[in-house]
Amino acid sequence: MKVLFVAGDPKPERWTVPIKELLPEAEVHVWDPDGPAIDADYAIVWQPPAKLFEREKKLKAVFNLGAGIDGLLKVPNLPEDLTVVRLEDAGMSVQMAEYVLHQLLEASRGMETYREQQRQGIWKIHRPIKRSEWPVGVMGLGHIGKRVARTLADLDYRVNGWARSEHDLDGVRTYAGADELGEFLKSTRVLVNTLPLTDETRDIIDYELLSQLQPGAVLINVGRGEHLVEDDLLKVLDEGKLVRASLDVFRKEPLPEGHPFWQRNEITITPHISARTLRDATLEQITGKIRDHARGLTITGIVDTSRGY
Ligand code: NAP
Repeated sequence: MKVLFVAGDPKPERWTVPIKELLPEAEVHVWDPDGPAIDADYAIVWQPPAKLFEREKKLKAVFNLGAGIDGLLKVPNLPEDLTVVRLEDAGMSVQMAEYVLHQLLEASRGMETYREQQRQGIWKIHRPIKRSEWPVGVMGLGHIGKRVARTLADLDYRVNGWARSEHDLDGVRTYAGADELGEFLKSTRVLVNTLPLTDETRDIIDYELLSQLQPGAVLINVGRGEHLVEDDLLKVLDEGKLVRASLDVFRKEPLPEGHPFWQRNEITITPHISARTLRDATLEQITGKIRDHARGLTITGIVDTSRGY
């Protein structure tokens, strides 16, 4: 079996050495942009070049080194019938739950107020929060959204969840499809986006959507930058409909110098770190699936390319 590693890591051996250990039966190659076809059976990729699919015609499946496959589906020449497999959790959902909880607490527990008081040497206690005043709404109830929703529900926050299909989640009030989006938004003050980027979800977080949230609204975007209409975010902040936004993903990354987001106190910016790919857990998952696929067993995480996730 031949496995081809295609990711722009300057030290590919960090990946290929463990792949060889986990999959001793495989011949492991690193992508050479100028090399010949190796007739790989499987490719493990992150943002691969279009040339990959021109050259490697015998691929049985391609494994993405991330949960979001919006980038991969855009690559020209990706054969329509090729099996595309995304990463399923692999240590990301716990990181995401942690990140979202942190951003939520910044808002709900007013942590900036206490930092400011410290700067001024003030000891002042504010009233405890009422959880009923901080209903959270999680868009997307997949591997990541579910874990986020469950974590916040365990801390007694009121949690709403919205997905394409119906879900039944303990402690979470769930809504499904475009018809129930309005109800979901009306019941939500802190909106958390964990959706995948698809034709249906691109630009979904716009002025109209943000305006439907409860007063004093907060946005936490850990999905993709292209979910958010940036000018609309600035508009709702200016109008006071939204009081705070924590953004981990942006339409253009790195966020360009001089972008208006940098100057806004109400916006917290992090450089796409809310859930990092963890090499060990990732390779264990992918090599396990390669082995199962090669044996003709069913594997999970196959992307429905017509749906886009
Ligand atoms: P997933 O398991 O595929 O879950 C996707 C969820 O979104 C599902 O619940 C799905 O609904 C819902 N959904 C998709 N299209 C929808 C639509 N049109 N309307 C309503 N709901 C819709 O994905 P995941 O593993 O949780 O990952 C989600 C995304 O997180 C990734 O695609 C990626 O963009 C992002 N991510 C970001 C980072 C970061 O560091 N910032 C890291 C990892 C992932 P159904 O349940 O009904 O199918």
